[in-house]
Formats: sequence, structure tokens, C-alpha cells
Amino acid sequence: MQTWYQPEQATVESALLEDLSIDEPWALIERFTTLVRESSSEDEREAARYITARLEALGVPHTVYKPDLFLSVPISASVEVEGQRLRAKTPSMAVSTGEEGITGEVVYVSSNRPEGLDTLFHFSNGGEVDVRGKIVLTDGYAFPVAVGHYQERGAIAQIFINPGVDIHWGICTTIWGAPDLDSAPRQPKVPVASINRPDGEALKAKVQAGRTVVTVRTQHKQGWFPCPVIVAEIEGCEEPERFLLVHGHYDSWDVGIGDNAVGDGTLLELARVFHNHRDRLARSMKIAWWPGHSTGRYAGSTWFADTFALELDRNCNAQVDIDSPGCRWATEYHDISWMTETEDFCVQAIHDITGKEAFGERPHQAGDYSFNNIGLSGFFMLFSTMPKALTEEKGYYPVGGCGANIAWHTENDLLEIADRDHLMRDLRVYVATLQRVLNNAIHPFDFRKLGRAFRDTLNLYAEGTDGAVDFGPAFVALDHLQEALERLYQAVPGLADRPVSDPAVRAVNDVILELGRWLIPINYTRTGRFRTDPAVPIPPLPDLAPAQNLAATTGHERNVLRTHLLRGVNRVAWTFERAAKVIEAA
Ligand SMILES: [Zn+2]
Repeated sequence: MQTWYQPEQATVESALLEDLSIDEPWALIERFTTLVRESSSEDEREAARYITARLEALGVPHTVYKPDLFLSVPISASVEVEGQRLRAKTPSMAVSTGEEGITGEVVYVSSNRPEGLDTLFHFSNGGEVDVRGKIVLTDGYAFPVAVGHYQERGAIAQIFINPGVDIHWGICTTIWGAPDLDSAPRQPKVPVASINRPDGEALKAKVQAGRTVVTVRTQHKQGWFPCPVIVAEIEGCEEPERFLLVHGHYDSWDVGIGDNAVGDGTLLELARVFHNHRDRLARSMKIAWWPGHSTGRYAGSTWFADTFALELDRNCNAQVDIDSPGCRWATEYHDISWMTETEDFCVQAIHDITGKEAFGERPHQAGDYSFNNIGLSGFFMLFSTMPKALTEEKGYYPVGGCGANIAWHTENDLLEIADRDHLMRDLRVYVATLQRVLNNAIHPFDFRKLGRAFRDTLNLYAEGTDGAVDFGPAFVALDHLQEALERLYQAVPGLADRPVSDPAVRAVNDVILELGRWLIPINYTRTGRFRTDPAVPIPPLPDLAPAQNLAATTGHERNVLRTHLLRGVNRVAWTFERAAKVIEAA
């Protein structure tokens, strides 16, 4: 593994680490236990005032923006069965029924449960059942793929049986951030309610015993609402125009301590410490607290990506998402999100600070990863988590935050979910990681590794086509790109001791950033730069992923798929060629 971290940075890193304290983050966490931070609420504004007052007191320069965000805040929900109203929650962005509700016959469709975080957002059910004109009852979370699936098949309402005794809040739209002409038609068109496992099992038994009619009632506050976006800025000394974007959401479901008051406190402590040592930072840092994450599908970060797209494209080195660090029992680093080019660097930083082996995965099309269409390298989202053996021992099912505590997205996400020691350990990892991106001569992102991952992906997909689609142009362009990458990175060790402002260093870094602008969009998006892709699982090189289905198709369907893949090969090969040219032109 290449050592990205230069020894002379050790003194800066030690100074930053020594300055860390639990006081500032813990005070924020305690204050946030009294604030129900749903977006557009007075409590959210109070939370914003708290953060800005602390930044003021610490002398950290910051800006507060007040964009109008498109939100859907759940207000109430119920499922009425034979005159009895079951407790329910409706996901954000589902349809409001009003008090009359939607009444219909229930049909149960079984669904396969996710084994872990890696498949949490995937959807597969027990087979096709005719749901037209019916109210679907199924297992799991009301995630967008499942909701879209049953909506398309004509269900008039949907009821999700959550896996435990608590009901989890969530959001069911695939629209990422504010809708535009392309995405607006995907606004969900059905009422959706979630109920808990005991109520769900009882209802399921009733449905299986005979015809069962229920009434689903849902109510939301939907519209465009002004919400504060807070961005702190710490200016570096050598290359101030280049910046690292570190961010997390401060709106939450209820008081959301593990998701995400702990992240908000972390961001504040990072702002304090890095600002204190700003004279030893080569590059700049922007630290952002987003509203609209929970009830606007990442509306705050998407607004920022839209509004500052060109500046992010020109000067942002990378983006780091901070969500649910420092939670109870969270001692391990697995299921950590990182883009391939950042993996070695992240593994090393976590190991240097904690002595632990970290295991990661391709970032989900989730969290505040609202920058993939611009092409920003990104790492981290959720962070330290409970050991798998412990979740098994406790009988916990997979959740999407809180370090695997099942209080996630429920009223139980209280102060007890935060852990001082784990938060301090995670803060140390963040400080080391961010410091290295800010001060390393060469950006620690290895696109050779992405080149190798692209080859594995192409091999897998090409195998699926059995020669019926010519992947040759993509392979040829990738050969060319990989040769260019080898030459580029050969120069890196010789530049490692130079100052950040050295023109030869700057030239390599410009190329590294430009590579991301080309290679990240084709690996995470299909709609192109400056647009947003749907919030559904997106496989690597998504233009070509359907190749895996080719063998199962015939006739018209097969010709459609072949056409799709031919266009996909063109897009991918062309992009590889452009990326190689970026290196050659430097
Ligand atoms: Zn979160």
C-alpha cells in the first residue's frame, strides 16, 4: 500500500489531536435532546441558532443561507381495522389522505428481509401478486423501490410491517432533493403507512384467514419552506481556493441523538479545532450543517450542490459525510462508505488512529452523497458500528444509522445512544483523515485502484452478454487509461516532499481532481452532470449493469437491451478516453 501520509505532517496532526475535547460536542448533544429538529420547525431554527452562536463565540467565519426547500413532514397516520385504529407512521413524501382515508381490501405480499446494511436499500419480494385496486400489506421499511413497485402495479395504498416493536420514520420518494422537470413526475402518488411487527403479524393473520378491509389515514405538511443552511469556512494558507467539504445533517426525526446530533457536535468540534490551527493548514475547509435531509431527501445538501455546482467543480477536493458517529456499542469500522480511489487512504487513517482494520463498501445512493453528478470523490457516511456478533446477540435487525442501534429513526434515539468515548475516538479519526487531505502535497486518491475496479466490473458485465454486445471499445479505452494512470502515479513519490504550492504538485492534483469529474459520474450516475439520479441502488458503471440480464431476454426485449448496452459502451469508452487525455495533456 502506498503511504500517503508524510511524516513532517505528524506535528500538525498531533497538535490537532491534542486540542480535541468532548466538551463542545457534548454540550451540543445535550442541547439537542430538547429540540425536535424536523425541517422548517422552530426547533430546527433554534438548533441553527445554537450552532451559529457557538461558531460566533469560537470566532469561526460562517455564512447562513435560507433556501426554500421542498419538504413533506409527516403529521399523523393510522390503519383502522374493524373499528380499531393501529398506531402507524407515514413516510415523508407519501400522499395525504385526509381524515376520510382510503378504504380497501388488503392483500399480503411477502418480502425478503435484508441481511445487513449492504442490502438494506435493495428490494425483492416473494413473487408477483395482483395488487390492483387493493391495499398492499408487506414486510420491511417503506423505502422508495418497494413503494414504487406496488404503486406501478396499481395498489391504492400500502402498509409496511416494520421489523420490530417500534415504527421507523423514513421517506419514500426516489426524487433526490428539489424536484425538477425530469424528476417531478416521480413524486409518489399513493398513501403509505408503517406499523409495528406485533400489529402487522395480527393483521397478516386476519388477511390470511379471509377478506379484510382496512382504512389507511395519512397526513403531511408538504410544500416549499425556508430552512437555514450553515456553512463554516476555514481558510488554508497555501492553496486557499481549494477546499474540502465536510458535512452532515442537523435536521432529524424527533430529537435524533445518534442520527445525527452526534454528527452535528462532531462538525462543531472539527470547526473549532481546525480553526484554531488554521495557520498550519495548506488548503481550505468548508463545514456544512444541512436541513431537509430527512423530509426533503437530502434537500439541503442538494440545494448546496445545485447552487455552488460550478465552484464545487472547480475547487472542491473531496466531500466527507458525517452521520451517526460515536454511538453506543459502536466499536468497529465496517460497512464504511468510501469511493474506490479513497479506500487505501481511509483504511490507513483508521488503522493509524485506532489500530483497527476497517472494511468498507461502495457508497449507497443515499445519505448526503449529493455530489456524485459533479464528480467529487467522497468518503464516509455512517461511521463506527456495533460488532456483528453483538447485533446478533441482541437480535437486532439492520438499520440505516445510529451505529446499528435500532433506536434509529424512532422516539428512542435519545441521549443514551451517544457515547463519549466512541465519539472521541471517531473525532480523532476524522481529524487525522481531514488533516491529511488538507496538507498532503498530493491528494491521497488513487485512481489506479478505480481503473482495476472498472476492469473487474467490465469483465463481469461482458460475461453476462455472452458476446452479444461488443464491450471491446470499453476495454481498449480502459487499457489506454490504465497505462496513463500508471505514468501519472509514478511521479507521486518524487513530489511528496514538495510544498503544496509547487507548480508540479499543483499540476498532478489538478489532474487527480479532473479524473474524478470524469470517472465518478459514469460510475454513480446516468443522468449526467448537474442533474440528480434517483434514490435507488445504483450498481457500478450503471450504463452497462443491465448486461447481466441479457441472457434471460429474447426478441424485442433483447434488441432493446442490446441497443441500451451499445449506447452504454459508447458513453463509458468515450469517458475513459477523455480521462486518459486529461493525463496526457498535463
Ligand atoms: Zn442520518
